[in-house]
Amino acid sequence: MSAQEFNLEVTPILPEALKRLDELANNLWYSWNIQARQLFEQLNEELWIRVGHNPKLFLRNIDQRRLDSAVTDQSFLDAYKQVLASYDAYYHAKERRNGGKQLAEDDLIAYFCAEYGFHESLPIYSGGLGILAGDHCKTASDLRLPFVAVGLFYHQGYFSQRIDAQGNQIASYNENVPQHLPISLVVDEAKQAIYIDIKIAETQVLAQVWKIQVGHIDLYLLDTNVPQNNDDDRKITHKLYDSGKDIRIKQEIVLGIGGVRLLRRLGIAPTVWHINEGHAAFLILERARELITQGQSFETAIEAVAANTVFTTHTPVPAGHDHFSPEEVKNYLGAFYHHDLRISEEQFMALGSLPNDSPDFNMTTLAVQGSRHRNGVSRIHGDVSSKICAKFWPEIAPKENPIRHVTNGVHVPSMLAREWTNFFDESLGVEWRDHKCDVDFWQAIENIPDQQFWNIRQTVKSRMLAKVCDSLTAQHLPYQISETHLERLLKYIDPKNPNILTIGFARRFATYKRASLLLREIDRLGTIINDTQRPVVFIFAGKAHPADGPGQDLLREIYNKSCLPEFMGKILVVQGYDLGLSRRLVSGVDVWLNNPVYPEEASGTSGMKVALNAGLNLSVLDGWWPESYDGENGWAIKASPHHDNHHLRDDEDARSLYEVLQDEVIPLYYDRDKDGYSEGWVKKAKHSMATILPRFNTQRMLNDYLSDFYLPASRQGRRLNSDNYAKARELADWKANLRAKWSGVEARPLSAPQIQMTSGESINIQVAVRLNELQPTDVAVELLLSHKVYHPEVLVPTQEDLQNIWQNNKMETVSYRFVPEHPLHDSGEYLYNLTLKPDLSGGLSYRIRVFPYDEVLVEAHEMGMMKWV
Ligand SMILES: *Cc1c(COP(=O)(O)O)cnc(C)c1O
Repeated sequence: MSAQEFNLEVTPILPEALKRLDELANNLWYSWNIQARQLFEQLNEELWIRVGHNPKLFLRNIDQRRLDSAVTDQSFLDAYKQVLASYDAYYHAKERRNGGKQLAEDDLIAYFCAEYGFHESLPIYSGGLGILAGDHCKTASDLRLPFVAVGLFYHQGYFSQRIDAQGNQIASYNENVPQHLPISLVVDEAKQAIYIDIKIAETQVLAQVWKIQVGHIDLYLLDTNVPQNNDDDRKITHKLYDSGKDIRIKQEIVLGIGGVRLLRRLGIAPTVWHINEGHAAFLILERARELITQGQSFETAIEAVAANTVFTTHTPVPAGHDHFSPEEVKNYLGAFYHHDLRISEEQFMALGSLPNDSPDFNMTTLAVQGSRHRNGVSRIHGDVSSKICAKFWPEIAPKENPIRHVTNGVHVPSMLAREWTNFFDESLGVEWRDHKCDVDFWQAIENIPDQQFWNIRQTVKSRMLAKVCDSLTAQHLPYQISETHLERLLKYIDPKNPNILTIGFARRFATYKRASLLLREIDRLGTIINDTQRPVVFIFAGKAHPADGPGQDLLREIYNKSCLPEFMGKILVVQGYDLGLSRRLVSGVDVWLNNPVYPEEASGTSGMKVALNAGLNLSVLDGWWPESYDGENGWAIKASPHHDNHHLRDDEDARSLYEVLQDEVIPLYYDRDKDGYSEGWVKKAKHSMATILPRFNTQRMLNDYLSDFYLPASRQGRRLNSDNYAKARELADWKANLRAKWSGVEARPLSAPQIQMTSGESINIQVAVRLNELQPTDVAVELLLSHKVYHPEVLVPTQEDLQNIWQNNKMETVSYRFVPEHPLHDSGEYLYNLTLKPDLSGGLSYRIRVFPYDEVLVEAHEMGMMKWV
């Protein structure tokens, strides 16, 4: 008979001298301070790995004797004091930095996102979006911005991944135990949990609130798993990106509507609201409800809310935008829009669905209509988003419509390997942290002696290889793999011999990222990989969403190919991709491979992480890469133009990939001199680090958000909201009037066009506009002057001319405004006059247009209306 086991947990007590370890474990500052994490690791390295680098869990499980002995361990105590000194220094410096100084004293930015990735110890993220949100918060803390973040607390977070012996992804969900996480329940003065009340359909759903400290800033997470809710509603915040549509809409209601109520409940009064991806767009409805309850009209409320709302879209494919059927929306929000917003079903549906569009309620549509500050996340993605959103401003060319871009970045302290951090501290001084965006400062990298640069890289790479060896061993152990087989598998990633070219590919296994492109011509790949003089190892990692069958097929395909004799040990598939594994891979691999379908990678950030750790990017020119690639700081694959034929496109892109590998990457890596490294490689790696680190970091990104979005949003919000929303009301009325009259507006040239003049001269141009009862100042009449692309009679077009014609957006254009003069009594039109003194010369052409104008508009073409003469 076997004995029964009883559980007993004995909580270790922190000795007085080490009391503040607890404080460190409860502030995510540890996620970007390497010394803080090392402190825990130093106490017990094995336990540190076993608890998944989770400081709180670590402190609950450490042996009391180890703690007691640490008190007399001088080197540990020194390290402890040093970490606390940096923590206190970080904490006590509260002055705003960079662009944050221009914010008003009472400004506050509220940031809403469905996922946050700070560190592997807090698994409430799935991929790039979450990590970007985490980095955004960390940087807001670094810059001491007035900033608060809102999200959801998922009890099971995103899944953990194992890969079985057939390459199947096995998803398991671990319970997120609050006591093991750096979070605390938000309570009121009587120490009772506070609850946020959200009506979903006919049910009153309650959410409790968790608070997380991210350095200087707070992140609040809503959690419906409370006994007062019924079983279904308790599960709303169960999983991140649950595939059930029902759950998704409820989650988004809790996040958007509940999130606003939560901030109000805590007395927090944001002046700027940032919706990071459409999931949180319902916040617009709740803010509108507040104003309607105060007596404002629906139209005024939307103007007032939109004035200080910033929306960032991350998805370049319309199908990727969240949308819900009219029935679902009616079911869950019917009572809300009838009773709270006091609007009709048609009015409500129009917020999320445009005429002639799908009848579904689309979260991007709501977000675009409920914000006046909108952006994509790279230059290309900004353009793509302008095209996707062209329907909102039907008479405006996409390149002029009000969607802009802020290119993503990464949080350097979180992603820079400790070896590089230490090296920068020693060689550049600790103040390198204050120069993160200073391109000139980072020129210093070019002066690092080659040998030293190479040695650091190799050290970091060895550490990565050791981690991969450990992971693969653990991964294959359950499948009773033989010792010999394991050796075969690990043969080329020996941490003691980091001299084999190692190429990494790790990211979500979404199909557009084309993880298996490399395997398209198996024989060719075999030749490349198995050159005995110049071997190559590929390391793959990544999770496919549990509902994404094709993504899991990709994983299986790669896994099965990796088991073929010719690829054994050369193509490795590592399970359990998370932030911890990501940090190691991006800091250690020589080359990072990125081959998405153009233009479907909105930005991508993992390549940035690689570059700042002196690895090199080999990437399709998509997302952030075209903004960074200068011909010398990595390699580019030009996307093939076969957009419609996927087979041809993939064939062609794969061929380009093989060519770059064979002709450039591999020869350069193995071009070793007597010191054992390739001078050309080191040169490229230095250049990559020096050009990418100071530009693609989140400090630059936050400063862009500040100057282009947060500051204008704060100003516009104040303007429209002052005097009991007087300006918002005026603007809403003005817009309604314009919409009613616009179809009757017409313009025609009055004067016969002059076709020849001399530089320095001016000419008069007159336009008559039928205003259809609008005021003369309600519209702007504008002349656009540009170089005639070419005169076929005189000049032969250059390649560049042709490209300009093709892209139609590179022409230098100068605009001039007409002045309203007087009514034309015989025709009922209004006369506008322009004295044009051209700023250009040569063969020119001009066009004249009329569009609604009011100086209070944030964007010139906000109304989406335009008439051409
Ligand atoms: C950086 C990072 C990403 C983002 O990957 P991209 O493919 O570059 O967008 C995703 N997951 C993890 C764990 C990361 O660290």
